[in-house]
Amino acid sequence: MPAGALTLFHVRGIRIGVDYSLFFVLFLIIIWLSGFYRDVLGADEGATGPYLLALASALLFFGSILLHELGHAFVAIRRGIGIDGITLWMFGGVARLQRDSDSPGTEFKIAVAGPLVTAAITLLCVGAGIALAGPDAFREAALTDGQTESSGIAALIGWLAGINLLVLLFNLVPAFPLDGGRIARAIAWKLTGDRGRATRFAATLGRGFGFLLIGFGAYLFVRGDLIGGLWLAVVGFILNGSARGAIAQTQITDRLEGVSVGDVMDREPVAIPEGMSIERAFDEYFLRYRYTWFPVTDSASRFAGLLDQATAEAVPEPERGSTTVGEILARDEGSLTVREDAPLESLLGNEGLRRLGALIAVDPEGRLRGVVTVEAVGRALNDPATGESLPS
Ligand SMILES: [Zn+2]
Repeated sequence: MPAGALTLFHVRGIRIGVDYSLFFVLFLIIIWLSGFYRDVLGADEGATGPYLLALASALLFFGSILLHELGHAFVAIRRGIGIDGITLWMFGGVARLQRDSDSPGTEFKIAVAGPLVTAAITLLCVGAGIALAGPDAFREAALTDGQTESSGIAALIGWLAGINLLVLLFNLVPAFPLDGGRIARAIAWKLTGDRGRATRFAATLGRGFGFLLIGFGAYLFVRGDLIGGLWLAVVGFILNGSARGAIAQTQITDRLEGVSVGDVMDREPVAIPEGMSIERAFDEYFLRYRYTWFPVTDSASRFAGLLDQATAEAVPEPERGSTTVGEILARDEGSLTVREDAPLESLLGNEGLRRLGALIAVDPEGRLRGVVTVEAVGRALNDPATGESLPS
């Protein structure tokens, strides 16, 4: 999934990004819809009205997709799951959750929120469209029939209703990672109590649906619908691949079942007290251990932040004797710590772990208990006791 090349804006702290591929689709939609609106308005080739309506339609369509993703995101945040951002790209939108749901109920509520938003938008457009154009002209507009008697604005609303209904129906197909597949996974998880099995079930449906789309796309392609056929086939490939990834992921999470951060961390981490001078920190830590950074603790042994070598070296030599570690350390607001009793699985995909290569394990009072490194997590994944290693 694309990370979003351009940041559009932030909604309540969530970064909304667009991938460049979106512009290609905007272009296609505008070309396609300007013909439709030319017919609706009875306008000449080259008139600007149809193009403006087509542009407005494309923007409103991606606006609806954004609202759908925000639906997922807001429920996730309310359930304590952070959002790395929302990206719009050529195949729709993606809200990137920082971690997996920890219960089937949470999974269900997050999954269902997006389709509920899309259903509300559809109903709103249907109501407004019928009020403006009457039921018959509205239906024709929704089916992009250029002969419709509706006005340009009513035709736009009709098209928006139709495309949102399509998005809704597609997303409700029980094929993981589509929303319907996530709902199916949540139900199977609730019934069996086994998240791994539920994921494999929903993702197997996802793989099947992916193959179906590839087959149907190939059929359309051969029949002469080159763009539509290719489109469906690519969507099928993406679905299939990400369902396959989800199945592989369950082999990891099953293996980590019952393993906590405390089980794999280094229990005797070397930490610098924050009252120590920079000069002594060099002599007793950086020059002695040759690490590039150290955790720093306060007088109550609580983790305060990190001191890295470059920051310490930036202090001019004459001042190092009188400057304390506490004055220059990078204070941590919690992004680098993890509770020692947290399940190891919760570290997979952790942003801090990826950036630093390690996380600081603390007890409930915030006291430093250990350091868990990427290598330690990797060793736990490839536990020799199980006699097999993971496919990578
Ligand atoms: Zn969704």
